[in-house]
Amino acid sequence: MIGLEARGLNYSYGTKQALNDVSFSVSSGAFCALLGPNGAGKSTLFNLLTRLFVAAEGRIVIAGHDLRAAPRAALAELGIVFQQTTLDLDLTVQQNLSYFAALHGLSGRTARRRIDAALDQLNMRERAGEKARALNGGHRRRTEIARALLHDPSVLLLDEPTVGLDAAARASITEYAHALADQNKTILWATHLTDEVRPEDDLVILHRAKVLAQGTAREIAGDQT
Ligand code: ADP
Ligand code: ADP
Repeated sequence: MIGLEARGLNYSYGTKQALNDVSFSVSSGAFCALLGPNGAGKSTLFNLLTRLFVAAEGRIVIAGHDLRAAPRAALAELGIVFQQTTLDLDLTVQQNLSYFAALHGLSGRTARRRIDAALDQLNMRERAGEKARALNGGHRRRTEIARALLHDPSVLLLDEPTVGLDAAARASITEYAHALADQNKTILWATHLTDEVRPEDDLVILHRAKVLAQGTAREIAGDQT
């Protein structure tokens, strides 16, 4: 089954083409790294996948739902971790999650159960009462990932989630994301860092607005030797 699919996406800023006929697909439950240098088009692609932008041409399907034809159903299956932190730093971890749960229409016992499960998943339960401001970068990211899971999406988009983190925190976030894929979440992980990619990961290489290659990291590395 396909978790996430993009077909023939084009996007331009004026005369600058940021995505040129971009197509790829990610199997359901796979960890896929979207790898490309700065300027390759990763953020533009994320903005299309989250429907912040709408592509003039092409098609995006999220967990079987066409983003153009059925945006509510498609977006309900999407969890998003933005590149810049979007936590309210003056609220606690728990309050940040509660607020988001309410936005998703979750309340009462259901909200509490989802929040606890998400905090457990990211090992953040004991920090639930801390203000986001007091957390280090890695713990903030983990809070954001927990928050992205509250509405139980099947696809998770993470836009350069390790930027600004030290090596230990980067390794930890990468580990949590792989654990989510093992639990059948489809993961799209944008990065410009090749050392975050494992041989068994799926890889989409974006370069100058085009998909250069797609396959497992092992296959693509093999192609180049
Ligand atoms: P990445 O996230 O891989 O760094 P982006 O999607 O941000 O790439 O950018 C792709 C290309 O589009 C780059 O050449 C960038 O300079 C250009 N670009 C991005 N946003 C804008 C914008 N708002 N106006 C004009 N050009 C843009
Ligand atoms: P990213 O790594 O996400 O691409 P950038 O530093 O390239 O971050 O871009 C930051 C913001 O500036 C983004 O919102 C992007 O759309 C915008 N941007 C990037 N390149 C350009 C450009 N050439 N002209 C105008 N805006 C741009």
